[in-house]
Amino acid sequence: MLRTLLYIHVLLLLVSVPVAAAGPGLIDQELFIRLVPPDHLLEGQAVLSRADGQTEWPTAFRLASQAAIDGVTADGVPVPYLFNGGLLKLALAKRITTLTITYRVYFTDPVPQDTVGIEDPSLGVTATIQPQGTYLAEASAWHPRPLGTNSRFRVTIKGPPGLTGVTAGRLIARESGETGTQTTWQTRLPQSALALAAGAYQLSRDDLGDIQLLVFTGAENAALAAGYLESCREYLQLYQQLFGFYPYAKFAVVENFYPTGYGLPGWTLLGSSVIRLPFIRTTSLPHEIAHAWWGNAIEIDYQSGNWGEGLATYVADYYLKELHDPAEALEYRHNILRDYKALVAVGDDLPLRDFRSRTTKRDQAVGYGKAAMVFHMLRSLIGDQAFWSGLQAAARQGLGKRYAWSDLQRHFEAASGMQLTAFFRQWIDRPGAPQLRLEDVSARPVAAGWEVSGALSQDEPRYDLSVPLRLETATQVIDQSVVLTEREQRFTFTVSERPINLVVDPQSSLFRQLFDEELPATVNNLRASRVPLVVVAKGSEALLGASRDLLRGLQWQKAPVLSEAEYLARRPGDHDLLVLGWPESAVLRPELPDGLRVTGQQFVVGDKLYAQAEGVLFMVLAGHENSHVAGYFLPGSVAAAQDTARRIPHYGRYSLLVFSNGRNQVKMTWEPLRSPLKILFAKEASP
Ligand SMILES: [Zn+2]
Repeated sequence: MLRTLLYIHVLLLLVSVPVAAAGPGLIDQELFIRLVPPDHLLEGQAVLSRADGQTEWPTAFRLASQAAIDGVTADGVPVPYLFNGGLLKLALAKRITTLTITYRVYFTDPVPQDTVGIEDPSLGVTATIQPQGTYLAEASAWHPRPLGTNSRFRVTIKGPPGLTGVTAGRLIARESGETGTQTTWQTRLPQSALALAAGAYQLSRDDLGDIQLLVFTGAENAALAAGYLESCREYLQLYQQLFGFYPYAKFAVVENFYPTGYGLPGWTLLGSSVIRLPFIRTTSLPHEIAHAWWGNAIEIDYQSGNWGEGLATYVADYYLKELHDPAEALEYRHNILRDYKALVAVGDDLPLRDFRSRTTKRDQAVGYGKAAMVFHMLRSLIGDQAFWSGLQAAARQGLGKRYAWSDLQRHFEAASGMQLTAFFRQWIDRPGAPQLRLEDVSARPVAAGWEVSGALSQDEPRYDLSVPLRLETATQVIDQSVVLTEREQRFTFTVSERPINLVVDPQSSLFRQLFDEELPATVNNLRASRVPLVVVAKGSEALLGASRDLLRGLQWQKAPVLSEAEYLARRPGDHDLLVLGWPESAVLRPELPDGLRVTGQQFVVGDKLYAQAEGVLFMVLAGHENSHVAGYFLPGSVAAAQDTARRIPHYGRYSLLVFSNGRNQVKMTWEPLRSPLKILFAKEASP
């Protein structure tokens, strides 16, 4: 769905230059910022002092390389400095109490008008000041950042009438007059750098104890504020129960003029089109609030692998489903396995240790999906009590620190009293997933009823697993866990009734490699294709241009294109097909699933006929001829094709989609053919 594009990110992910971990000492920074949007200009003055006598004056500061420095003074007296390549160097005597840096910077990153097919969540924008809005990422160094020392900030942002600037910390003051506006923020927790957004915002606010709840939106979206405030309150309460006290003075939902979804310390920045989507309040919002702990207050040691996305995904996207409905939670876990199978090709995998940030769907399937499953398996292994108290200890002791996977391991070991080295090693250091097999299964009558036996095996490299098995009879469900540490482990069930079926991991509680047969063909298969081939059906030539956004969204821009006649002449092998229009030749026409009929410009799904020019059918089927999977794009008109093309890639988990007048009418995923990990016993199973 849409949200696959909107997965929201800790801004730190965008920082390309590693920042030295802050050493001892603390700087107090007072920043006076004036924004001149028509000129893309920021005028800044940073007044720095040391929080105490222990702090050494930093000798180097990062500042945007295109900045012009108007002056550097120490206790009011100009001092010499060097500014080169974004690094400001100077030497201060210990007795100096105040350092003042005055500067100007232009930020002009272009914002793409059209974001179809861009998988980088930053859209390539680090900093931009425009009449429509302003966003300055931490990485842009819009304020001087002392290297090796964290700061507490008081930030005053001035701008033209109507403009409100938002950054980290508590909102201290917001004034507006005829000549302009002024907004002041004060941070409590030491941070190395800040991000800043500004726009023509209306403010809605509430309080949760000491925590300010703030929603900054444009006039058009102001009606959404009440709902967002209510959700902020709900999730902050839930997460404070789970993790302990919320580490920031506020949580703010801030609208952005281009489609971002960032989680920043104490605030989230959501694009205008994003903030309006009805599901954001219950999906992205809790994910971002969870990042306040996991990724912001407790920072991530990226060198050891980014654990923050997996944990935020687990405690928000996943866990809220578990609270709401266990069936939805099961579906969510199963979808993680499907995404991994569909999007991560064998040999193209990476261990969680090497995941830094999402730039592709493959990274997302590992860094978010697999990592979330690792937390799920850990919770099953050590139990709820140890899992949540381990997280609470990590939240308490990791505040302001940079944590690696090994730090989380330490807290979970302390909370559970268990040695978890082997667990973390196999799931974090190693790429891939266990491939389980069920072999040699038989059921035979015995004196006590029936005996079902068999062998559970795994491919190399081996994992240490506890694999759930479920045997069902007409009236009983018998669960058993099989400890599988070697290549193979035999098991036996004895039941009083005739067995009906045996299933490995019925609750999808293990991260494992699915078999091909367990994965229905979906849009994601096309997206993950390494051998794409576009075929334009005879008479549908106009569709190629109209399908541009579809090809970009699937990352198929460079796919070769053949006409139907060319395809028939060559019959190329080993590829995934996307067919534009309904082919004339039976060779290119798929065998359609039950309930689906296509005739010329019309199609029938279930018992509904779609005939109008606005109707669009898109389906992905298991390949025939020499193809792996085949997608069919059947729009009723070129205009309908153009309108729908950009929507389809958002429905990655689906096999069949129907759109009408630009709206999705039907979305479905085929039932998997069968699973080799599910045995259906014959009704008359003979001994
Ligand atoms: Zn995230």
